[in-house]
Formats: sequence, C-alpha cells, structure tokens
Amino acid sequence: MGSPTASDELRARLEAARRLGALGADARDLTELFHALYEETSRVVDATVFLFALYDEASETVEVVRQVDRGVEHEGGSFPLGKGFTSEVIRTGLPKVIRRWATEGPSVRLLYGTEAGELVSPQSGLVVPIRSADRVLGVISVQSYRPDAYQDADVLGLEAIAAQAGITIKRLRATEQLALEHERHALQLEAVLASMNDALLIVDARGAIVRLNRAARDLLRLDSASLVLGQPLERQRLEQWPMTAREITGALVPVIDALRSGTGVDDMEIELRSAERRVLSVSASVLRPAKGPLQGGVIVLRDITGQRDLERLREDIFAMAWHDMRTPLTLVKGHAEILLRRLAAGEGDATATKEAAASIVKHADRLAELLTTLFDVHCLEAGLLALSPWPMDLAAITREVTESLRLTARHNLNVVADTSIEGEWDERRIRQVLMNLLSNALKYSPEGSTVTVSATADARTAKVSVHDEGIGIDGAELSQVFRRGYRAEPARQVKGDGFGLYFAHGLVAKHGGRMWAESAGRGQGTTFFFTLPLREANEADAPVEREVP
Ligand code: ATP
Ligand code: MG
Repeated sequence: MGSPTASDELRARLEAARRLGALGADARDLTELFHALYEETSRVVDATVFLFALYDEASETVEVVRQVDRGVEHEGGSFPLGKGFTSEVIRTGLPKVIRRWATEGPSVRLLYGTEAGELVSPQSGLVVPIRSADRVLGVISVQSYRPDAYQDADVLGLEAIAAQAGITIKRLRATEQLALEHERHALQLEAVLASMNDALLIVDARGAIVRLNRAARDLLRLDSASLVLGQPLERQRLEQWPMTAREITGALVPVIDALRSGTGVDDMEIELRSAERRVLSVSASVLRPAKGPLQGGVIVLRDITGQRDLERLREDIFAMAWHDMRTPLTLVKGHAEILLRRLAAGEGDATATKEAAASIVKHADRLAELLTTLFDVHCLEAGLLALSPWPMDLAAITREVTESLRLTARHNLNVVADTSIEGEWDERRIRQVLMNLLSNALKYSPEGSTVTVSATADARTAKVSVHDEGIGIDGAELSQVFRRGYRAEPARQVKGDGFGLYFAHGLVAKHGGRMWAESAGRGQGTTFFFTLPLREANEADAPVEREVP
C-alpha cells in the first residue's frame, strides 16, 4: 500500500465532516449523546479516559453525565465548581491541554468518582468547553496514561466535537422544555376533566375508549378493572359489565360510528330503562388536527333526567288541570247562570237560590284545593318547598284529623295514640300527610270496615300508621305507589290523580322521616307508616332550624 493520495485524504476529510455534522443528531437524551461523543472522540484523539459533563450555572455545579476509563463505562455524578482543570475550563471558557500531569496538575485525580483501584494516574489531558454564545454549557475531557498524548491539532478536533455537542444539548433542552410544557397542559386538562359534572369519553380513530373522566366512570358504574382502555368495544368483556354500562355503550355505537367516519353528533337523547329511568343527552365532536388524519373524538354525556322529569311534570300538571278543573268550572258556571236567571226573573225561591250559591262555593273550593295541590307538587319537585317547623303535638294532631273525618266517613275509625308526642314539625304539612293517608284508607276500603290510626314514639322517632281492611296492594306495587301519577289497577274505579302519596312521601322525607306501605296482598288490607325524627334530648335548647327555600 502506498501513501494516501490527495483524493483519499479529501475523501477522509469529507467523511469526517459528514460524521461531525450528523454527530448527536439522533440522540434522544444525554446518555445517547454521551455515547455518540465518546465514539467520535475516540476516533480523533486518545480517549483512554473520557468524560462528558454539563455545568449548572444556578448551583455552580458540574454534572458529569457519564465517563469511560480504559473502555469501562461509569456512572456520572456531580461536584461543585472547584480548582481542577475542568472547573478552570468552565470558568475561562478556554480549552486546556495538560501535557505532563505530574508537573502541571493538581494532586487530585481528574477522573471523577471512579475507583481505579490502581495507583496509576493519567499523565496528560485535554479539556474543551462546550459553549453556546458566551455561556459554557459543559465540557468534554479526555486523559491519557501517556505523557504528551495531546497536541494543538487535537484541541481543534475536540473543539469541533464540542461545538456539535452544544447544538444537541440545546435541542435536548428545548425538547425537555416542550415535554414539561406538554405535561403542564396535560395536568391542567386532567384537572378540568376531573372537575366536570358531565361524563366525558375520548375515543381513538378506531373508536376504542382511550380515556374517561370520573363522571363517566360514575355514570357507567365501571371500576377500572373491567374497562380495558384502548380496546374496541366489541373486544371488551361486556358480559361482565353492569347493565347500565352495557346499555349506555350500546346506545353509543352509532355515535362512535359517526365519529369514525368523521362526523359529530349534536344533543342526541338516549333513555335508559335497565335500572332506574334516566335520560342522557349525548354530544360528540371529531378530533382532527389542522393537518393530518382523524385522531378520534370526544363524547360528552349529560344527565338530563331531572330536566325531562320537570317537563313531564308540567305536562302532567297541565293535563290534570285541564281534566280536573273542567267539571267544577262547568258546574260553577251552570249554577251561576241559574242564579242569574232566577234573580233576573225575580223568582223568590230562597231555598233554590241558596242551593245554587252553595254549589258554587263547593265547586270553587274544589277548584282552589286542586290549584293548591298542583302548586305544592310543583314546588316539591322543583325543590322550592320550604317547611316551617314549630313545636307541635303529633298525637293530638293525629286525633284531631281523624275526628274531623268521623262525621262523614262511613267506616269505623279507631285511634290508638300516645298521650302526647312533642316535636318540631311543620303542622300544616303533617296534617296534609295524615289527610292523604286517611282519605286513601277510606277511599280504598269498603264502607263499614275499620280504619285504625296509631301514633307512638320512642326516644328518637315518632311513628304513625294508618291501617285499613280494603283492596290491599300487590307486593310488586308496594314501592310504586309513591311514584307520581301511579295508580294500581283495582284503584282506578275510584277517582284520583295519583298525586297524594307522592306528595305525602316527599313531605315526610323533607322532614327527615320515612314513609312505606305494607300489605299482605290484593284484598288483604293495607297499612301505611311514616316516621318523623324527634329532637335529640341534648339539642333541646338549640335554636330551631328552618329551611331556607
Ligand atoms: P289522589 O290522592 O291524587 O287523589 P290517588 O289516591 O289515586 O289519587 P295516591 O294517594 O298517590 O293517589 O295513591 C296512589 C295509589 O296507591 C292509588 O291509586 C292506589 O292504587 C294505591 N293506594 C294508596 N292508598 C291505598 C290503600 N290504602 N289501599 C290500597 N291501595 C292504595
Ligand atoms: Mg290519594
């Protein structure tokens, strides 16, 4: 082999320039950069000992990324800026060649933190700064166990490598900054999602749920174990999901299909029937960056059951008002017209006139009563019903309400009550509850049968029951009767709206009590119970709490 030709040399230089240009370009972190730097440095100089360190200005600390000693790689570490060559280069920003360590160097070992185990120390060294404008970002340092291992040309070679290292360090820092910023954004987003009352699901381009917030988990009643994020719905173990979750995801299939094809969905309504009735409003929007393919979509589910129920209540009330007020109104008008004709004709039949006037009063009363019921039910439902609790005697009120019915009732009415049950409740409302239960007992049991009312109390609770020997209630319907508008089949022969128990139940609940029904079945009679909390003995002197509407 002859001496290298001019073109060989040019090729070698171009090759070196190319390698240098690409140095560290692929490094994803400082360790990868360290390896790239070591590889390139060992090509151009003696890198028996190699060290790559960064300098943190704020804490004046030198952070050694990693180091190599005779081919063995060691962990990094950190040390405060001191008197050694590395520190000197960082301070001055100028490269440093140590030709003969024994005569020039300080008595410290340059290699940071490794246990060489032998008494050999480097004989010569070269440290170059990694600079960015006028700041020193760090150093690259090489040492040799031979004296005089480094020449001026080596300084230039290592400086070229250090320049590339500077570019990569800045790029990595910018990426890190970006990553931190992303993380901050992600955390903010997380907080927003968690605090949302609406349930939110994020699906990927294939339509698999990849993220859901707390409200969505609550809505689906799923624990994290049973929903595999990122797995398409058809591959989830749906058979193990609760009914509600299956019903909701079932209803979401067309929404997800729409998202997959790049279309959003606006306020679609789904009604759940598996457990309690619920109405959900679903909206979905496509996630698509300004450029590039579809990323998936966001689905928001809002529980609008309350809203729909209120709307339905208004419709019910309107229908009921229309139906129930028409008759008394027609009667009032009819009697008023008769009265008017009589007066116009100068007819002097005082009895007939009185009767017509009495009918007007009676039907007007019925109208007023109906309006009050409608108003009360509406207030209860809208959460506007306020109680005015005041000291009262439940036993006395129970006797009084029962007595008031004795005259008109064609039943035997029995009252079994303690002498007195003192408590603080809204007397007008408790009277309404008692009236509701008693009028039902009379309405749904045959004339001549017995209705027994009892009122007792223990230390904490007052309890009232109304027992009849009437049509009874089927087991399955025992809890249904408290629903608004519910009327059992056999009850429909008697007039009613199905509002009484709903309202009474609501009133008792508002007092902190409970109402329930017991019956041995159809034709077996029924007992309705309600309880009311008594004031605790030790709260006897506490001020009366009033509910603010
Ligand atoms: P309203 O009280 O509004 O005039 P209503 O009596 O039908 O009408 P609720 O008092 O709410 O309505 O009662 C609901 C249903 O519960 C009744 O229609 C009936 O089916 C059943 N029910 C209530 N009380 C009794 C009872 N004592 N015995 C048997 N069934 C009853
Ligand atoms: Mg009733």
